[in-house]
Amino acid sequence: MPQRGFTTRQVHDRGQARAHSARALPIYLTAGFSFSEYDDAAAHFGEGIGYAYTRIANPTIDAVEKALAALEGGSQAILLASGQAATTVALLSLVSAGQHIVLSDHIYEGTRGLVIDVLDRFGITADFVTDIHDPQAWERAIRPETRALFAESVSNASNRLLDIPAISEVAHTHGIPLVIDNTFTTPYLLRPLELGADVVVHSASKFLSGQGHVLGGAIVDSGRFDPATGSLFPQFTSPGRRGTPSALDRAGGDARVAYARDVVAPRFGPTISPLNAFFIGQGIETLSLRVQRQSQNALDVARWLEEQPEVASVDYIGLPSHPDYELGRRDLSAGHGSVFSITLAGGAEAARRHIEAAEVFTHMTHLGDVRSLVLHPASTSHVLLTPSEQERVGVFPGTLRLSVGIEDVADLIADLRASLDAAGVPAAPATRQVEVDALQV
Ligand SMILES: *Cc1c(COP(=O)(O)O)cnc(C)c1O
Repeated sequence: MPQRGFTTRQVHDRGQARAHSARALPIYLTAGFSFSEYDDAAAHFGEGIGYAYTRIANPTIDAVEKALAALEGGSQAILLASGQAATTVALLSLVSAGQHIVLSDHIYEGTRGLVIDVLDRFGITADFVTDIHDPQAWERAIRPETRALFAESVSNASNRLLDIPAISEVAHTHGIPLVIDNTFTTPYLLRPLELGADVVVHSASKFLSGQGHVLGGAIVDSGRFDPATGSLFPQFTSPGRRGTPSALDRAGGDARVAYARDVVAPRFGPTISPLNAFFIGQGIETLSLRVQRQSQNALDVARWLEEQPEVASVDYIGLPSHPDYELGRRDLSAGHGSVFSITLAGGAEAARRHIEAAEVFTHMTHLGDVRSLVLHPASTSHVLLTPSEQERVGVFPGTLRLSVGIEDVADLIADLRASLDAAGVPAAPATRQVEVDALQV
């Protein structure tokens, strides 16, 4: 055979990829996979056998999905490009035009924006529950067309913990799922599916990856889809085009996640890079060690902050002063997490001076990193809320959000001391009003 041209050799002359026994997760950084036999292609498209294209499935991504499903006590997971992608795919799998979602008011602003600014335009409406601890408040918000309840396990900024068993019961009496964003607690501290929730979503950009280098997101499903609720979700029970079997016929209790994986995620296309999936897989291997250390650091820092005259209040669920402390003792057995808020007596100006003086705490909008971070929510993450809406979720002019890292705690306290010295104590303290009562209105 004559020698092939340079350009042909440039793309073809290499060893075939072979499976070896790498102990670390191999990174299949490939858009697609070659079919070994002619019939393998049809078998893939027909029965989903084997790998064909990374937007549909990829061995590196699969391995991390299996790890996450196991840690959450779920049946299957879908790893996606970001936490926002996970929330979007989870909700769009459940809710159709003309239908409705009930969400906690204590919610990540990206989720609030998705619902208010985007889904609303497609005819999906939403209501927000402020008193998230009152099952009746959730019950009252549910309508015949409601198809999901959505809340965070522990929320920003006031560290409210959802009573997952109680609220999942409300959801189940209506045949609809409770979806929990478990970003703040991670499966190491809390496993919502074991407490009755049906679907978990994550921003894997935070604690799961742990080092602030990649974005990722995940959906984890309980696998407990009840066929008796099938009439509420015809997308799971109806056959596909040309009579292909429904998600329920193909996957049974996994109908919900099968529909999200096979129909919604690949059509919207927020596929995670296999390289980023690898980093998240690496992060997960040290999750418990990091979260343990971060929780212990956070508790030490929060206790110390509570004693400082410059600090009007500390909203940390690990402190007996927090309204959900007892609920936390019931549901959070291994620690209380490391993201919480403090409110400075000196208000917005004190917050600015505090952040400008910080050296060990990095000023940035992220959380769950091994490094400690600080942010002023009123002028950043919560800026689209009115001042009274901000107060309702625990954001005041002097509020700072801390994400405590793994550093030596003495260095964190020394850095906070220097920041508080810069912030100062005002002549007339306490800009912050009642915290718990304000949340109930
Ligand atoms: C960051 C975050 C998200 C969004 O995740 P991305 O990975 O940034 O898209 C969703 N929920 C919570 C609680 C978050 O902190």
